[in-house]
Amino acid sequence: MNKADELMIQCWNPDHKGCVQQVCFNLFCQKRRLQCLQCIKNQQHSSHLSDQHQIKDMMDYIQQVQLKCDEIVSMLSSYARLIEDEFTKLKQGILQKYQMPINRLMQLNNSQINIAFDTMLKFQESTKEIKFNIEKQSNEFIKELKKKQTELKLEELNQLYEAEQLYQQGDNLRKSNKCNEALQLLDKSIAINPNNLLALDCKSSCLRKLSQFKEAIIWADKALLLDPKHSHSIYIKARCLYCQQNYAEAIQWTDEGLAIDPEYKNFNDTKVNCLISIEKYNEAMVIIDKVLSIKAEDAKFLKLKGQSLMNLKKYDEALSFCDKALKYDSSDEMIYFIKAECLKNQKKYEQAIVCYNKALQIYPQDQSIINKKGILLNQEKLNVKIFFKKKINESQIIFLRIIFFLFLFQFNLHLILQ
Ligand SMILES: [Zn+2]
Ligand SMILES: [Zn+2]
Repeated sequence: MNKADELMIQCWNPDHKGCVQQVCFNLFCQKRRLQCLQCIKNQQHSSHLSDQHQIKDMMDYIQQVQLKCDEIVSMLSSYARLIEDEFTKLKQGILQKYQMPINRLMQLNNSQINIAFDTMLKFQESTKEIKFNIEKQSNEFIKELKKKQTELKLEELNQLYEAEQLYQQGDNLRKSNKCNEALQLLDKSIAINPNNLLALDCKSSCLRKLSQFKEAIIWADKALLLDPKHSHSIYIKARCLYCQQNYAEAIQWTDEGLAIDPEYKNFNDTKVNCLISIEKYNEAMVIIDKVLSIKAEDAKFLKLKGQSLMNLKKYDEALSFCDKALKYDSSDEMIYFIKAECLKNQKKYEQAIVCYNKALQIYPQDQSIINKKGILLNQEKLNVKIFFKKKINESQIIFLRIIFFLFLFQFNLHLILQ
């Protein structure tokens, strides 16, 4: 089997599950050259379709470049040898002509010594020009070689590898929720290679997790300058706008994202949250139902349906959807919270408190749940007080009535006996 056939390169985009199928050969293309089927669907290379080739062609091309590299290096070596040879001849010639050991001089006759000494006398004059010219031309030649090294950016590849490695480490830290540490590595990576879309996107994600929404949008925008159709950067931007309560713009970006990638679930999720926030529950419900018609066991959308129904005061239905959501995800405290709110509105206070407690078991720091539970408990205490006060009042009346009847009875008895 050909090596190219065995080569399985995962797509750079973690949301794409497939392997690379196509490679862009266009010299001026700024997009990622390696594409999986999902990338191909996104049509980022549609302006130069004739430059799209199979992965096998890339392997062939890499091998051709290897051969051409060898050719250039061997040509450079042969020139280096030619220069070296000429230098060697020049050095040896100078030594032969001008360097005469004294013992050899002693063996020469008068005329020969005369010639030798005459030559020696002219040594300074004859070699002055050689020294000057060779020095000048060598310096120029070395300068030219250095210039070529710089132009070819011979160190660049290693630097790019280093930047990629820093990004990977940063991304792993982000996945472990160590966003501050991740940002340090991502900044180093971006300083070396400011054109790594994924590093920019990852930085934006970290900033969002740290609730620095304004900064996160700035970095998402930088990623979108490199690739205006990058779904995840669009999502981060939309989500940050939602968190900034800029719902209209957030919806605009989710729509843009959905036009590019209709199957990207987070766009629907963000849009529904925006619609709920601006009390467009029915519009939200249309999207929720559409998502649930494709995947009925989607806990997040079952929860959103429960939330919308609660907002529409349809508490029984809302509770039923929350229970369905809990079947698939019992770790989302918000589902218990929505249940608690529905039960509270149905005046089922004890059951509501149980649900608040379950939500707080999952996320004990959630201040809004703590507050809601506190308000309900205080209300309950008040109700209990009113209840007992009412009961006491009722008891007092009954007691007085008994006293009154006893009095009447005694009075009547007294009359009868008389
Ligand atoms: Zn892909
Ligand atoms: Zn291209």
